Formats: sequence, structure tokens, C-alpha cells
Amino acid sequence: MIHASLTQLSALLAEKKTSSVELCTDYLGRIAALNPTLNAFITVDPDKTLAEARAADARRAQGEAGPLLGVPIAHKDIFCTEGWPTTCGSKMLANFVSPYDAHVISQFKAAGMPSLGKTNMDEFAMGSSNETSYFGPVKNPWDLKAVPGGSSGGSAACVAARMAPAATGTDTGGSIRQPAALCGITGLKPTYGLVSRYGMIAFASSLDQGGPMAQTAEDCGLLLNVMAGFDRRDSTSLEREKEDYTRDLGKPLNGLRIGLPREFFAEGMSADTARAVDEAIAQYRRLGAETVEVGLPNSRLSVAAYYVLAPAEASSNLSRFDGVRYGYRTPEYSDLTDMYEKTRAEGFGAEVKRRILIGTYVLSHGYYDAYYIQAQRLRRLIANDFTEAFKQCDVILGPTAPGTAFKLGEKSDDPVQMYLSDIYTIAVNLAGLPGMSLPCGFDSQNLPIGLQLIGNYFAEAKMLNVAHQYQLATDWHQRAPF
Ligand code: GLN
Repeated sequence: MIHASLTQLSALLAEKKTSSVELCTDYLGRIAALNPTLNAFITVDPDKTLAEARAADARRAQGEAGPLLGVPIAHKDIFCTEGWPTTCGSKMLANFVSPYDAHVISQFKAAGMPSLGKTNMDEFAMGSSNETSYFGPVKNPWDLKAVPGGSSGGSAACVAARMAPAATGTDTGGSIRQPAALCGITGLKPTYGLVSRYGMIAFASSLDQGGPMAQTAEDCGLLLNVMAGFDRRDSTSLEREKEDYTRDLGKPLNGLRIGLPREFFAEGMSADTARAVDEAIAQYRRLGAETVEVGLPNSRLSVAAYYVLAPAEASSNLSRFDGVRYGYRTPEYSDLTDMYEKTRAEGFGAEVKRRILIGTYVLSHGYYDAYYIQAQRLRRLIANDFTEAFKQCDVILGPTAPGTAFKLGEKSDDPVQMYLSDIYTIAVNLAGLPGMSLPCGFDSQNLPIGLQLIGNYFAEAKMLNVAHQYQLATDWHQRAPF
């Protein structure tokens, strides 16, 4: 049962072979056993979970039959959840209990999916290894000395270790796809604006996007059906018809044109990653797809542009944490300015402070044109490259990350090395496109390797089927660490 996909759990519930209470009890047991080692969850509250499970069972008993009714899920601790602590991985919010639900949370509640708890993450989603969390690092279930990736590392690790059948994540520069790759699961970052950011604690608002993390592409489709949809409380939420993101699953790939960006294959990938990605390309050819070489010439500048734009937005977004309204306040201070300064000095960790400093600098008078405006121009060029590339192909394929899970501490003293973990993912956020990562093999250390697919705007359904066809032909996504 613990290895079952959402689709399988949904069938078991529909056939009354199990109940939501039974499922939640199993997963809570697994969490109790494994979390002391993995640290994937910041908060678990079995009473709350079981109350939600009983409510789901009652709804089913009354004849309701939603596909995910009663299937449990874990939530990244960046989503405000009424009555639960919502920490964003920070001391600043360690004592914050949200008075309301994020849009994503209310959508999952409406679908009847009980919450198994709040998952660990890099502080304010800034990181690629989960090591910036105030609550300590998450361990990669495939190697306890390795990182799970970040910032949605707790979500990725809990799905990989089967402590939850699915989890939510957020992706500003790769935070769903990179940890999915490093933990051997499937994760999807939707087109910007598809999933409401209401109640999702802001890091870089023009890049942040929530999305699903699960074992399979099919499961991600089911979850996106729940998450996506217009919400007037987010001014960048897109007003579009509701779609069924599983509608294309099952279509053959004959004639599909897969774009291979020459810049992604030029250098930077580890040998094991390059081999696994090549084998995936061969698999796609066997499934009837064609490949075309495409160019993303400006993508090499994406990390540089991102580390101007994301900190700029973060410095503005994080100004709300001032010790007055909510969260941490320093215990001793002489006056208001002293209170602000001590609260922020004590409440934020080093990486968050680094970003606030960079962001404030690039937005300051005299540097704004040289850095911020230049980075915005680059962002446009990077997006234009994709528009050109999609004239020649239906989906773009490449690696998710340059290598597999690195050791805890290996990159934590070298921010630039850490930032380069997202070299293949960041351009997708800058362009606002959908992207996903799915397992495509293992390296010589038996660590999972991720394959990245990038779709055109709103091409989630097609992209999910491209991943699904691969998962029907391979079993990498079914491998579990234990
Ligand atoms: N690793 C990137 C960063 O540190 C991306 C994080 C994210 O997507 N939230 O900013």
C-alpha cells in the first residue's frame, strides 16, 4: 500500500478496500518511524490529520466520489494552513500559526485530501539543498549523507521515502524540479499564473509558482486538476477555463518533435547524467518521437539574471517581517528602530540576509539601471529564445540538474556553486513556462537522475503525456530507496 500511486489509492478507496483513516494511519506510522532520521516534516499533527480523514470518509459514505477524496497529501511549509504552524523554514515564522488557508490548501481541502503535515524547506525557499532551513537539513532517503535538493526538499524526500503519496512544492528557480530529480520522484512546475499564489509566502512574486510532486506524471496531472484555477485574490492568476490535465494521457508519441537545446548538452553535465539523458532520448525515439536541435543562446545568462531579479523581489517581499505584525520579535530593544534591526538580525538566516542585501543594492538609485533593468532585458531575451525554439518542437528535453545529490555541507560555503545547481531550471521560471522533472536512471552511487521536460505556455497536458509515455515504458519512477 505504501508504494501505491495516487491513482491506485483512489481506486482502493472507490472500491471500499481501504478508508482515508486507514491510509492516513499507515502514512502517519511511516512518518513517525522515519522522520527522526530524514527530518522531512517540520510539523505533524496526527489528531488534525485523522479528523480530516474521518471527514473525507464521511463524505464518501454520503455518496461523494471525487477522484482524490480521502487520499492524503503533505504540504510544503510555505503554504498558509489555517490552525497549523506555517514557518517557511524560518525562525522569523517559527511561532506563526496561520489564521487562513492558502488558495492551494483550500482547493485540496475541497477535494477532500487530508493533510499529513508541513514539510521542511530552505528558509523562505532560498536554496538548492534544504540546508538553509532553521529546522535543520533534510536527509536524502537514497543517501543519508546527501542533500535532497531544495527548496522543496522535505516534500521530495517524503514522497521518495513513501511517507506521503504526494506533496505540494513551489518553484521559483527550480525548487520543485531539482529536489524531485535528486530524490527520484516526479515534479511539475506549471505555467506562471496557473496556480494561485494567494497564501503562498512570497519569495520572488514574478517567478514563484506552486505545483505537485508525486511518484508519477499521471499523479501530477490529477493533483494539478485540483491546484490550478483562477483566483481573484492573486492579481497574476490567469482567468482560464478549467482543464483536465490528464486528458492527453494515453496518446501515442508518433511524430512528436522533441527539442534538444545545444547549450544544455555542450558542457556542465556529469558523465552519468549525460548517459542517462541520452538513453532517455533513445527511448523517446523508440516511442516514435523525433528530435531536433534547438538553440537557447541566452540561457547561459539565466543564473546571473535570476540572482539580480529574485533577490530584488525578495528584498521587497521580506520587508513585511518587521516584528510588528506577526512572527518573531526580539525580546529586548530600546526603541522602534532597534526593534526592527534586532528582529531582522536575529530572525533571518545568512542566505536570506545575503539576498536582502543583494536585492536592496540592485534596486538602489544609481545601480537600478545597471543591474535590475539589464536583468529584466535579459529575461525578455531568454523568454524569446524559447518562443523561437517552440516554433520547431513540441517539447524541450534536457537534464534537470548538472549532477545527482551532493553531500551535506559540500556546497554550503560556496554560494556560486550552489546557485549553479539550477543552471538548467532557472530559464524556465524567467520565461514563465511549465517544466517538469522525472526519474531517468541512477548514477554509479545509486543516486537518482532527473530528466527535465519543458513545455510551451499552457501545454501541461501534452507535457504530462510525454512524461507518462516514458513512465509506461520504464520503471525508474517505481524504484524506492527502501
Ligand atoms: N535554488 C534557487 C534559489 O535558491 C531556487 C529556489 C526556488 O525555486 N525557490 O533561489
